[in-house]
Amino acid sequence: MRLTGVPASPGVAVGPAWRHAEGQSGTPLPDIRAAATRAAADLTELAERLRRAGRTEEAAIFEAQAMMAEDPTLVEGAERRANGLTDPDAIAAAVEAEARAAASTLAAIPDELLAARAADVRDVGGRIARIIAGRSIRLPDRPSIAVADDLPPSVAAEIPDGLLLGVAIERGSAVSHAAILARGLGIPAVVAVSGLGAATRTADANLTIGLDGAAGTVVLDPDADELAMLRAAGERRAAAVEAARALRDQPGATADGHRVALLANIGRPEDAARAIEAGAEGVGLFRTEFLYVGRSDAPSEDEQTRAYRAVLDDFGEHPVVIRLIDIGGDKPLPYLHLEAEANPFLGMRGLRLAQDNRALQLEQIRAIARAGAGARSVPRLMAPMVALVEDVELLRGLVAEAEADLDARGVARSARLEVGIMVEVPSAALMAAELARRVDFFSIGSNDLTQYVLAMDRTHPGFAAAADALHPSVLRAIRETVRGATAAGIEVAVCGELAGDPLGAQILVGLGVNELSMDAGRLDEVRAALAARTRGELVALADAALAADTAAAVRALRARDGAPV
Ligand code: PEP
Ligand code: MG
Repeated sequence: MRLTGVPASPGVAVGPAWRHAEGQSGTPLPDIRAAATRAAADLTELAERLRRAGRTEEAAIFEAQAMMAEDPTLVEGAERRANGLTDPDAIAAAVEAEARAAASTLAAIPDELLAARAADVRDVGGRIARIIAGRSIRLPDRPSIAVADDLPPSVAAEIPDGLLLGVAIERGSAVSHAAILARGLGIPAVVAVSGLGAATRTADANLTIGLDGAAGTVVLDPDADELAMLRAAGERRAAAVEAARALRDQPGATADGHRVALLANIGRPEDAARAIEAGAEGVGLFRTEFLYVGRSDAPSEDEQTRAYRAVLDDFGEHPVVIRLIDIGGDKPLPYLHLEAEANPFLGMRGLRLAQDNRALQLEQIRAIARAGAGARSVPRLMAPMVALVEDVELLRGLVAEAEADLDARGVARSARLEVGIMVEVPSAALMAAELARRVDFFSIGSNDLTQYVLAMDRTHPGFAAAADALHPSVLRAIRETVRGATAAGIEVAVCGELAGDPLGAQILVGLGVNELSMDAGRLDEVRAALAARTRGELVALADAALAADTAAAVRALRARDGAPV
């Protein structure tokens, strides 16, 4: 039986199915506070282990979980529920009920970060409950494929190396924490596999699963033909990965030498090392939200300056694009006192925040300008959620005011900032010519552009497959953006997930995009996919994609085109 889901981490695996279960293993600890403290200590240790192994993105997930474990709201809420109970199992159930209630509040807010956080809260509740009841997760005893409704990230992270061959989950999205972990571990994963639970629950204990993470397929009890196909796909992929790695020292270019800069998206200064190791030619998107979330007040200008300077120093002469805070509405910060909104994705987010929180953005711009003093590259400042020419005027005004303020105080700053915008709202794509005359560069945010062009919430599991950035409508919006940029003579980059998809990267270059920025782990494959085609071939590919009727028809070009991906 063959099921289809959303590709979340490439690779092929075949092995026995493993569903995580709990077993009695130790002495119960029926004290919620003590159990929460122990859970936080275990999670901190897990985070430190991952950080030592250079896996900073995954480490951050568990650092956040450690804080959640000791969150007074969770602990006190659970204590109220457990009031008068003495049976460890009943107390554990109270903790899980409290965590589930907190998670459902978060899950109701349409935001992918909060949806992932909801899964984390449930995961943390489960961990505290296990300590209280003296239970532990029964880990697989042989290399296996995890099959789950939603694999708790901390369970996945605790499976010893080599025992987790792949992940198939019924819920989640490509940005859920289980998917991020799978990518970090380099194991295949398919998410949002509808019917997986129903098909596997009744299967016997010796069920074998075949997984193709790039194709998004899950095969239950594969027959000899299916096994041969999976094996062949695995071998092709291993050979392609090997060949792609060998190109690391070369700059991004098509087979006929047309240059395409390949840069990395980073979320913290510590990510720079991994990006440089992967051959990134700079940073195309430095998401700065990490500085603002999980704290009770805004970061100081000095703290921000240090973080930005660290990345500018690491990248030397290579460009670094620092994005202004992309938060608000759907991603509330307690200290901003933002009002809850009915449609947060259409509300006060990104640059729009400056309407009511000008000081916050001015402080960030001053920090970027200060970080650039003495740096070997000109800092590139980028605003998210730009919809109107007036937004750019607002941005230019903010930059001028921040620079004038530093000058008035005699504070050293970069002589110049390059000022760019994200094109991620349909109006910006349609007004690209007018906007391009007013900025130094464009970077297309294909994640949000897809959500807004197709009117499909990027966090809605029901749209995970349909909200495809390769839909011809999104590609046509990108074509308009490139036309506007080209007419004004500015560079146009793409920094959404599409840039890290080899077929997507090929089409984008065919459309005239000059720079692609992606997770460092995607660079090898994208470099190889571009090197395998001439610019002319990619232009023809892009023309065919623009003329297609559906996203599926665009994806089918990959097979016909015979791309090495
Ligand atoms: C995007 O929207 O494509 C993007 C890169 O920004 P984010 O995913 O942070 O919204
Ligand atoms: Mg965006």
